[in-house]
Amino acid sequence: MLKGTGVSGGIGIGRILLAEEHSLEYTPGQVTDTHSETKRLRDAVRLFCEKTEKQAQSLMISAGKEEAEIMRGHIAIANDPFMLTEVEKLISGGQCAEASFESMCDMFIQIFSSTDDDVTKQRAEDVRDVKTGVLAILLGVSTASLSDAPAGTIICAKELTPSMLAEINKENIVGILTETGSTTSHSAILARVMDIPAVMSVPGIMAAAKDKDTAIIDGTTGDVILSPDEEQLEKYTAARETLLRQRAELEKFRGKVTASADGTVYKLVCNIGKPDDAIKAMEADGEGVGLFRTEFLFMDKTSVPTEEEQFNEYKRAALILRGKPLIIRTLDIGGDKDIPYLGLAKEENPFMGFRAIRYCLKNQELFRTQLRAILRASAFGNVSIMFPMITCVEEVREGRALVEELKAELRLQGTAFDENIQIGIMTETAASGVIADLLAKESDFFSIGTNDLTGYTMAADRGNSDVSYLYSPLQPGVLRMIKSITEAAAAAGIPVGMCGEAAADPMMIPLLLSFGLTEFSVSAPSVLTVRKCISSWTKAGADRVTEKVMSLSTQKEIEEYLKTVVK
Ligand code: PEP
Ligand code: MG
Repeated sequence: MLKGTGVSGGIGIGRILLAEEHSLEYTPGQVTDTHSETKRLRDAVRLFCEKTEKQAQSLMISAGKEEAEIMRGHIAIANDPFMLTEVEKLISGGQCAEASFESMCDMFIQIFSSTDDDVTKQRAEDVRDVKTGVLAILLGVSTASLSDAPAGTIICAKELTPSMLAEINKENIVGILTETGSTTSHSAILARVMDIPAVMSVPGIMAAAKDKDTAIIDGTTGDVILSPDEEQLEKYTAARETLLRQRAELEKFRGKVTASADGTVYKLVCNIGKPDDAIKAMEADGEGVGLFRTEFLFMDKTSVPTEEEQFNEYKRAALILRGKPLIIRTLDIGGDKDIPYLGLAKEENPFMGFRAIRYCLKNQELFRTQLRAILRASAFGNVSIMFPMITCVEEVREGRALVEELKAELRLQGTAFDENIQIGIMTETAASGVIADLLAKESDFFSIGTNDLTGYTMAADRGNSDVSYLYSPLQPGVLRMIKSITEAAAAAGIPVGMCGEAAADPMMIPLLLSFGLTEFSVSAPSVLTVRKCISSWTKAGADRVTEKVMSLSTQKEIEEYLKTVVK
């Protein structure tokens, strides 16, 4: 068995199609007629762009609008004025079009791949794809085409480019296997969107695999079996069928109300990091957004995004959601989330330090800019504001006072915003759990952040493997904390959601139903699973389980008991 990185889930069983790369070798030559050589380059770039636009259109159908933009990005690279001017300068110096184009692309590839940042590294992959495409046209070589792949094909390639994937008939492809690539590469993203199992980064796969041989790939574990025996085929065929059955079962919950078996309705929303993730939330049948982590907008920039930039991003998310709830969390930096251009001082203990609301209240200009942008976006949808990492009442009061000040400012200017915008808090620190009754009087809603709440309650850093045995929401300490937060919210009559990972944990769900949680905010792929899970519990059933759980003394006992009642 070979091992790679599973980047798109599911099991693929089929016949290998080796996507051999055609040689793009040439002898770099000198040219004298630089004018016609420049024309040759421009024609090749034009042809490349036309071909790529067609690929973008077919990707639009097979994958989606956002995915088609990957190909439009390639067109933008090929047409980049700086790059083309530099290439043409090289041609004017007498270098042939192939060598001139290739050397400029290689320069960018080297710059982009030398960073640690995944997004920039991805740009190197894009430039490589453009380089291959344009060189193939200049050399008159046809690039590997997968459009004729027969039904039941597992594509096996050294590197699979988005342009190759744009040409496939996805009904015929049951798996993707590559020697390079990672979870964040464009082809991995495309494989997930197209729902094709994929394993990438399998060392030596091109040498090991034979064309037309049977293979099995597991896109979740990254396992690859070439020429499987009968027993392996039987085992994986059965596993694939179970998986497909489970998926079909989940699909029954698409478009349904999220409700318990005895009819109590819950809100099931998604966590997002970028406005466009709201599209994924909608596609996953989420009922809105329970947590928009705005720090990602800041992380993608080299300086603080302006009010206008932020307003456009928040407005975009609100418009995508068409009136469905959008909870925008104000900047949560510090801890493990650094933003280099803010110049945060290195701290001995960053998780206990100058983080989130603490930073924002001390950096009023930055905070005001964000709050104004959110308020203005509230005119375009169902927007709420949420403050992270609250530990005391003063933080909520100060934050709210600032919002009131900004509302008054906007009113004077005649700028539209939602007068009734709701202002809630994340309850994710130990103190917020203990004084939840006091905080509930000052907040329009709570959202329990179990990722941090578990860490702060247990005094256990989730990144430290020596103490990871303590880091579990099933610890009695954390469960009591969650219970008291939900009780405080109920007593004050405010909604209480959960946006930490625990909200999607089937073992936690009966407990959360019993405690009285009203909203579950989960990652988009978990929506249907959580809806199904909620539908399997009645309040009485969840209460029975919870009563037993709360009588147990250790996390191990709790987990073992829950395993017996949660399927
Ligand atoms: C949490 O702490 O549970 C949470 C949702 O916030 P983050 O993971 O962004 O810290
Ligand atoms: Mg948190």
